[in-house]
Amino acid sequence: MIAKIDRDEAPVIVLFRRDLRLADNRALAAAADTGRPVVAVFVDDRTENEGRKPGRASDWWLHHSLAALSAALADLGAPLVLRRGAMAAQAMDLVAATGARAVYWNRRYDPPATRADTVLKDTLRGAGLEATSFDGALLHEPSLLKTSTGTSYRVYTPFQRAVAAAGEPRDPVDAPGRLKEYRGRIESLSLQSLDLLPRRPDWAGGLRDTWVPGETGAWQRLAGFLDHRIDFYEAGRDMPDGESTSRLSPHLAFGEITPYQILAALNRHRGANPRSGADKFRKEIAWREFCNHLLFHKPDLHEANFNDRFDRLAWRSDGPSLKAWQHGRTGYPIVDAGMRQLWQTGWMHNRVRMIAASFLSKHLLIDWRDGESWFWDTLVDADPASNPANWQWVAGSGADAAPYFRIFNPILQGEKFDGDGGYVRRFVPELAKLPNRWLHKPWLAPQGELERAGVVLGETYPHPLVDHDRARARALAAFDAVRNGG
Ligand SMILES: Cc1cc2nc3c(=O)[nH]c(=O)nc-3n(C[C@H](O)[C@H](O)[C@H](O)COP(=O)(O)OP(=O)(O)OC[C@H]3O[C@@H](n4cnc5c(N)ncnc54)[C@H](O)[C@@H]3O)c2cc1C
Repeated sequence: MIAKIDRDEAPVIVLFRRDLRLADNRALAAAADTGRPVVAVFVDDRTENEGRKPGRASDWWLHHSLAALSAALADLGAPLVLRRGAMAAQAMDLVAATGARAVYWNRRYDPPATRADTVLKDTLRGAGLEATSFDGALLHEPSLLKTSTGTSYRVYTPFQRAVAAAGEPRDPVDAPGRLKEYRGRIESLSLQSLDLLPRRPDWAGGLRDTWVPGETGAWQRLAGFLDHRIDFYEAGRDMPDGESTSRLSPHLAFGEITPYQILAALNRHRGANPRSGADKFRKEIAWREFCNHLLFHKPDLHEANFNDRFDRLAWRSDGPSLKAWQHGRTGYPIVDAGMRQLWQTGWMHNRVRMIAASFLSKHLLIDWRDGESWFWDTLVDADPASNPANWQWVAGSGADAAPYFRIFNPILQGEKFDGDGGYVRRFVPELAKLPNRWLHKPWLAPQGELERAGVVLGETYPHPLVDHDRARARALAAFDAVRNGG
């Protein structure tokens, strides 16, 4: 049924997707500024477009983030309507139901979503309606940043320089104080019916203990980081034990906070040593932009090697080793600690992500796409750009990749970045009593040390899946064959 409504009273529809926030939400702010009633809608179109089922940890996050957004919007006078289906069809249905003449949204950048939003815009405009989109998720439109020869960037450093030279980003916009209520009835799904939470078994206890999804949680993380950690960020960010980084990644992935807000807060912050940590942190935010830039120009980033010479690489098919890696049972403590942190909390420290990804793609010579899929399913910050771009970077097949011969030694990496063993002891408690000297290489410990620590290799903790030197030689031979066209 088409609603008949006075033109000035026609509501503005605001579509929420991966921008689950009130502040610095330009679509919402613009709708509030019209003075018309606002209909706030979350449309879950992920299974419609991406061709890639969203991961289960992301679903968990989405549920709680929607609950938080819904409560915040209800306080402002615009309860959140929940829909599922194709974006354009849902928007047209809402237009018909409410008599709205305008639909606003913040832009998305992963290719299936971009395509859906182009259809959305064309459909609305074709029907004579206003369709307006805004920025928010990224500081730079991937389509606009170009090298001096007019091509897209493939290397991070010049990209980062271009980003830095582009000047200060715009100021964030405030959350609306109040939204004019729409008084009609609109059909909405219930949050439960989106079926985003795990049921049997409920594996999300560790996620609940670790995270507060939603805008408030994002600001708590940012405040904690600026108050206590940013001054030590440059030196401490590679240490996985304790909290040395911001842990903003899932909040950014769901758009609960924007890079504009983060950079503005960084500029306001005056720490003991304001430059060092802040500069490094800005460069990490630029990595996120770079990954999105890569994805925009290579839409099949999670499926196809950036460097197609890697199509020839003889990956091994080894189900049991893949499973051991997934479950943190490789026999290399730093890898196992990372994989268990991921399973328990939905997040893994960046240094350990690199070590674990290198171990899978180089030591085990298992296709990086298998690792990327596991991360996609288990990370709360699983991101269509950052996940495949980083996997390809580590595996060596990426745009600006780590050289193929850089094969992390998991023993030395563990000793260097977790020398006191706090991280391994937390996530691999069966090794907790081993002295630091043997913690990252328990198979080399004298029998007496193992007995004193209650470790029985092959029973309480696995033998290493592969020998480091042999695995390294095997990986180098496989990568050499690719390089030499073999
Ligand atoms: C194999 C692998 C897979 C990854 N998959 C993802 C993913 O799915 N989603 C994701 O957000 N990040 C991913 N990363 C990047 C990085 O590990 C995380 O962004 C970071 O660990 C998040 O923690 P933080 O918020 O405390 O980071 P901080 O050190 O506090 O950095 C601040 C922000 O900068 C961005 N950032 C930092 N490092 C990177 C990077 N290397 N690439 C892109 N953005 C970065 C993130 O948005 C992060 O929140 C991956 C890295 C690797 C090696």
